[in-house]
Amino acid sequence: MSKYDYLIVGAGLFGAVTAYRAARAGKKVLVIERRPHLGGNVYCQEQEGIRVHRYGAHIFHTSNREVWDFVNRFVEFNNYINSPVANYKGELYNLPFNMNTFYAMWGVKTPAEAQAMIERQRREAGITEPRNLEEQAISLVGTDIYEKLVKGYTEKQWGRDATSLPAFIIKRLPVRLTYDNNYFNDRWQGIPIGGYNVLIEKLLEGIEVKCSTDFFADRARWESCCDKIVFTGRIDEYYDFKLGELEYRSLRFEHETLDVPNYQGVAVMNYTEREVPFTRIIEHKHFEPGGNQPRTIITREYPAPYEHGAEPYYPINDDRNSALYASYKALADADPKVLFGGRLGEYRYYDMDKVIESALNLTIE
Ligand SMILES: Cc1cc2nc3c(=O)[nH]c(=O)nc-3n(C[C@H](O)[C@H](O)[C@H](O)COP(=O)(O)OP(=O)(O)OC[C@H]3O[C@@H](n4cnc5c(N)ncnc54)[C@H](O)[C@@H]3O)c2cc1C
Repeated sequence: MSKYDYLIVGAGLFGAVTAYRAARAGKKVLVIERRPHLGGNVYCQEQEGIRVHRYGAHIFHTSNREVWDFVNRFVEFNNYINSPVANYKGELYNLPFNMNTFYAMWGVKTPAEAQAMIERQRREAGITEPRNLEEQAISLVGTDIYEKLVKGYTEKQWGRDATSLPAFIIKRLPVRLTYDNNYFNDRWQGIPIGGYNVLIEKLLEGIEVKCSTDFFADRARWESCCDKIVFTGRIDEYYDFKLGELEYRSLRFEHETLDVPNYQGVAVMNYTEREVPFTRIIEHKHFEPGGNQPRTIITREYPAPYEHGAEPYYPINDDRNSALYASYKALADADPKVLFGGRLGEYRYYDMDKVIESALNLTIE
């Protein structure tokens, strides 16, 4: 006889929200997690009194009231507003592209002047049908912004020249004609007070959880112990890669403790020239200001090609991978025992609020 109604594989946001909902619905739930800690990619590790985002900087933002109300039942959020700075060969520009950026780049002071400058550069480039990412970007924002703020960063991210990347990768490049450095347009944003771990721990309170436990290390046991599996790991791995392997871009993080209280004065600084090998430096303490820690911790983020066994971060939703995912999804749809969810289970880039929304919509029966 099955001991559990639900086995949830993965203690990231999707797994934790689903476990919470299933337990609240009176189901008997077990969560297993391959890593030695909870939280998946939102996990933070405390060092020097600073919460370090171990798997990349995470800023919560949403316009979905249901999701916002849901997370606020477990944790309060601080008033952090993401306002990254771009560093191009030592020149600093505010992001997203806004009047502060245009003033620093061209000395223009009014929206009309900025708009005219962008329009002129777009016209001079004379691109009507962009054939690649470079032409697409220039046709949207002109040459200066492209050369200084888009080109190198994008080429590092994808590991390829912008002229060999397809145009569709950049559908829009938002240009804001106000002096507003708030990166997101969402109604709500912030960092959980006490960190993301608090949110995850509260979601999983009273639920049986086993960390450092890989589903594949004892698959038969885990399959037989439950009626239903919610799998938030890789869908292709679940099916033993039998149709082929889905591709990802990966990242490498280099963490460093520095003997200064404040290294860069901002949480996120993007390095937009191609010659600098990392894309961003994150200074974690700025996500939760007011800590007065004497030292600081920074993380350099390096894009990396994905190799089998590496951490899969960003799905590559091109034609090959989309078709392959559709084939795995067909297998999943025909399998009544398992449900797939989250960024790896559904092979898509999901912000945290979208993952929570999707987990809140999962049918628990
Ligand atoms: C660099 C980076 C920065 C990001 N920044 C933001 C941001 O600023 N704002 C935002 O909203 N979103 C951000 N995101 C997205 C955010 O990380 C995701 O939305 C969210 O973490 C996905 O949750 P998940 O549960 O789907 O996946 P995960 O967090 O990956 O959880 C899946 C879990 O399953 C476990 N698992 C996998 N296979 C097995 C197995 N065989 N057995 C047991 N356990 C297994 C994994 O170890 C993992 O813990 C960012 C993502 C990245 C990569």
